[in-house]
Amino acid sequence: MRSRDAGGLVYSTEAGRTCPNCRQALAACRCAAAARQAILGDGRVRVSREKAGRGGKTVTVVRGLPLAADDLATLGKRLRSACGTGGTVRDGTLELQGDHAERVTAWLQAEGFEAKRSGG
Ligand SMILES: [Zn+2]
Repeated sequence: MRSRDAGGLVYSTEAGRTCPNCRQALAACRCAAAARQAILGDGRVRVSREKAGRGGKTVTVVRGLPLAADDLATLGKRLRSACGTGGTVRDGTLELQGDHAERVTAWLQAEGFEAKRSGG
């Protein structure tokens, strides 16, 4: 049985494919679950009003929420419904269509986040 080649990749004759990150068999790997639970933001929650794309529409962007991806998605859904608008969650950032910066800031503060307006 060959355990390690020059490139550092692990092959195992009995375990099949392994995760390149933790070197566990894929069935035992918890990297994806851990990534979903990792806290994305630094807790300094900033709410800003920005233009999406070139000559784009106004969007309200929330950064720094100290939440894991699943919780961020859930919060985003509640926030969109509170504002009656659509939006997305991307790279730990919430984005809502339209200018809802004041409302979003107040809503987040009511939820216990130290949200602040930033930028325009
Ligand atoms: Zn892994």
